[in-house]
Amino acid sequence: MTFSQTPIPSGSIARRITRRTAVRYGSNEIIVGGGAPVVVQSMTNTDTADVIATAIQVKDLARAGSELVRITVNNPEAAAAVPAIREQLDKMGVDVPLVGDFHYNGHTLLNDYPDCARALSKYRINPGNVGQGAKRDTQFAQMIEAACKYDRPVRIGVNWGSLDQTLLARVMDENAARAQPWPAQSVMYEALITSAIDSARRAEELGLGGDRIVLSCKVSGVQDLIAVYRELARRCDYPLHLGLTEAGMGSKGIVASTAALSVLLQEGIGDTIRISLTPEPGGDRTREVIVGQEILQTMGLRKFTPMVIACPGCGRTTSTVFQDLADRIQTYLRAQMPLWKADYPGVEGMNVAVMGCIVNGPGESKHANIGISLPGTGESPAAPEFIDGEKKMTLRGERIAEEFQAIVLDYVKQRYAKSDAPTIAGADAP
Ligand code: SF4
Repeated sequence: MTFSQTPIPSGSIARRITRRTAVRYGSNEIIVGGGAPVVVQSMTNTDTADVIATAIQVKDLARAGSELVRITVNNPEAAAAVPAIREQLDKMGVDVPLVGDFHYNGHTLLNDYPDCARALSKYRINPGNVGQGAKRDTQFAQMIEAACKYDRPVRIGVNWGSLDQTLLARVMDENAARAQPWPAQSVMYEALITSAIDSARRAEELGLGGDRIVLSCKVSGVQDLIAVYRELARRCDYPLHLGLTEAGMGSKGIVASTAALSVLLQEGIGDTIRISLTPEPGGDRTREVIVGQEILQTMGLRKFTPMVIACPGCGRTTSTVFQDLADRIQTYLRAQMPLWKADYPGVEGMNVAVMGCIVNGPGESKHANIGISLPGTGESPAAPEFIDGEKKMTLRGERIAEEFQAIVLDYVKQRYAKSDAPTIAGADAP
């Protein structure tokens, strides 16, 4: 057997150095870029003019962990509703900053509805949708002037579905004049990146601080997104908002978003993320927040909620006991977090293992803060319980789930109570 003569380095992520943009509401300040932890954000799908429905969904997204929530501001009714939504959120004790998403008429709405402009903490501007011809520059300038007037940061958010057609035509003409024209895909990448960076530079020329700008260039293909963001990151130092647009439904949307974002995050690219999942009809909008958190937590970039490590199960455990227990504990831990976060600092770094049989059960359980190894088919009907790597007891009988949950709660109280500062779980990675 031959061992390496040098230690294998541990996996790590060196974040890209960017400017630092603050998004504020009251005393709540969310920092995007500048080495701050990657921010999770989301977007409502209610009619913004419906104040109560929108405020409730914003509250749900914020309680699930969304640190910024974007709402569409698409018409006068929506713009008029924004201050009332903010007021309703204040009454509910929700101080999440609101981001207004503008297309086509943002210049008019920000001018005609100053209370809307003030109630929003950040504006999203799509340079492909601010107007055609000469109007484009004027209307873009009006939006930037509103951002300067109300001291709001902006995201210049380019999307390949609404790319500035004049710019695209110019890039295509330049390409046609090349001795060896680029492939069409490279032309499209160039147009996306140029649109974002030129718009940001124009915003700075108009007086917006360079530390008040976040960029995004969203596409729906995984390889396209990786290629575009690598180049965007190389060409500028604005903080970047990552997201695979139109990622899709269910597992396809989750897998595609995870595949694309993980590669970029591993390279240190990305300062805020949004997972664009299409919910099932009547589905829970907060899923996109949880997926975003899980991507960051499983990559070791942030900690949001205790993690349950569970084996996939196999023919050695044919009952559903361990699946039920893993699901029950995961749901329990997530439900406790709004309270635990304040009372038990560091608990979000806790690992709980729920394993299906003796093959990997005791070993995996010893690596977790708390672990339980359930009996597989034909094994003695006993579930050894491990705390901080040591076997402490064996659970038996019909009430294993209830007893295990009580043990987890006891552990949290003892380990993470404020007077007993945690030594295992740390704060967010820088
Ligand atoms: S721990 Fe046991 S039940 Fe779980 S996957 Fe491994 S062998 Fe199968």
